[in-house]
Amino acid sequence: MTTPTDTRKPVLLLVLDGIRPDVLRSAMEAGETPNLGALADRGEAVWDAVSVFPSITPAATAAIATGEAPAKSGIVGHAWYDERERRVVIYGAMTETVMATGPIKVFHNNVWRMNRDDLHAATLFETLHDRGFDGACVNFPVRRGPHTHPVRLKTVGGYLKGSRYLGPSVEGPKQYFMGDLFYSQETGFNGRKASGGVFRSAGINDEYAARIGAMLVRERSAPFNLVYFFKGDSIAHHHGLEAQREWLRTADGYAGRIFAAAGGVDGLLEDYAVLALSDHGHAPLLPGRRHVDLRRIPDLKVSSGIKARFGRNDDAVVVPNGRSALLYLADGIAREGVAESLVGRRGVDLAAWSGGGWANALSSTGGLRFRPGDGPRDPFGRSWELEGDPRALDLDLAGGMFEYGDYPDALERLWGCLHTPRCGDVVLSATPGYTFGEVSGGYHKASDHGSLHAEDSNVFVLAAGFTVGEAAPRRITDVAPMLLSHFGAGRPAEERVL
Ligand SMILES: [Zn+2]
Repeated sequence: MTTPTDTRKPVLLLVLDGIRPDVLRSAMEAGETPNLGALADRGEAVWDAVSVFPSITPAATAAIATGEAPAKSGIVGHAWYDERERRVVIYGAMTETVMATGPIKVFHNNVWRMNRDDLHAATLFETLHDRGFDGACVNFPVRRGPHTHPVRLKTVGGYLKGSRYLGPSVEGPKQYFMGDLFYSQETGFNGRKASGGVFRSAGINDEYAARIGAMLVRERSAPFNLVYFFKGDSIAHHHGLEAQREWLRTADGYAGRIFAAAGGVDGLLEDYAVLALSDHGHAPLLPGRRHVDLRRIPDLKVSSGIKARFGRNDDAVVVPNGRSALLYLADGIAREGVAESLVGRRGVDLAAWSGGGWANALSSTGGLRFRPGDGPRDPFGRSWELEGDPRALDLDLAGGMFEYGDYPDALERLWGCLHTPRCGDVVLSATPGYTFGEVSGGYHKASDHGSLHAEDSNVFVLAAGFTVGEAAPRRITDVAPMLLSHFGAGRPAEERVL
C-alpha cells in the first residue's frame, strides 16, 4: 500500500446508483439495512443532499468524481447533441437505446469516449495521484486516471481488430476493475459464465463489485477506493420504489461483505473513512399517459431520435434524457418563445435557458431570471441577483435569504447546467409522474429521473470515520472537494465558480 505521508485515513467511497433517500431511510429504520445502519449510527446521515441537474447518472457520477457540475465536467446526460460532429452522442441507457444505436458504439462512448474525450474536469483519481495518493475503482463509469489498462476480455479483443470504435486500452487509476473487461490484477472473480447484453456478458455487476470491494479492503490496497453498485437504479426504473427498497437488503449485504473484510464496521472505521451515497433519486411515473413525446412541437420542425441532426429545414434537435430534455435550436429561433410554447403542456414542468449573462426559468407559476451577484443568499451561502417571480422555482424569501421548496439547490444547479453548448438552448424538466423518455423513443414504465424536482434530485449521504470538522457533503459536487481536503490536497474554492 502507498502510505499517505500524513496520518490521513484511506477512504472508501460507495456509490449506490439511484437510491432515494426516503427509501433507504425507511428501510434503515425498519432494520432492513443493518450494515448501512451501523455506518449511519457511527457517523453522520444526510437525507436531503442534492444531485446535479440533469439528475442523471453520467452527469451525476462525473460530478462525484470531479466536483464539477455538468457545464464544467462536460458530461451533461445519457445523450446529447454534438454540434461539432453533427450527431447525437449516447453513453447508453435502456437496452433498446443500446440496440437501436448498436452496442459497440454505445460501449465505445460509455467506456472510451466519455472519459477520454468528453470529460473536461480532472477526476479525483488524477488529482490525488498528482498529490501522491493512488486510487482503486470498481465499475464506476467515470474513472480517468494516470495508468493504462489493457482490455482483458477476449470477445472484446476480437471486436477490436474490426472496429474503428474500440481502443486496446483505457486510462484509469492504479487499480481498475470492471468485470471481465478491465482488471489490474488477477482476482479469480472473472470469466464466470453470464448472459445477455454487452455489459452483462462482461461480468460487470454488483456481486462482482462487492467481492472486489472486500478484496481492496482486506489487502489495504489504496488510499482512495471507489466502489459502484448500479442495480438499485434499474430495479426502480422497471419495478418501482417498493422493489428498490427490497433490493436494499441485497445492497446492504454487499456493504456488509466489504465491512467484514476489515473485521466489521468498527474495524473498518478504525482504518478507513467511509462515504456512502447515491448519485440521484427517482420519481415514480403515472400508470398511463406518462410519456411526454417531444417528437412533435407546434410550429417547429423537429429532428429527434438517435440519428437526429439539423437538416436544411430543421428548427430544433431534441434529445430527451429521462425526466429532462435538451433542445438545440437553429439560428434565429428564440429560446424564450420555445420555452413559452412548451411550459404548461402536460408533463412539462419547467423550461430553462441562458442569455445576456442571466439564467432564465419559466414555470406555469411565472418567470424568474437570476445570476450570481448582489441579492439574497441561498442555503449554501451564495448570493444571487433575482428578477421576476421567485415562485417560478418555489423560492421562499425572507430576511435577505431564501429557502428552496420543490427544487433543491435550483439556482446553482441550473447555472451549472446551462453554461455549455452541450446542454442545448433550452432545457426542460418534467412534472412528477412524467418522463420525456429516451433518445430511442422508448421510455421507462415504473420510475425515472433527470428533473430538477426534489423527487429525483435528493440523495442520501452517510459519512463515518472522518475527523471532527469534516462535515458530510450536502451536494454531490461537494464530495470531491471534501475528499481532496481530507487528503490535504484541496483546491481553492474560487476555482469552482463558473
Ligand atoms: Zn437510471
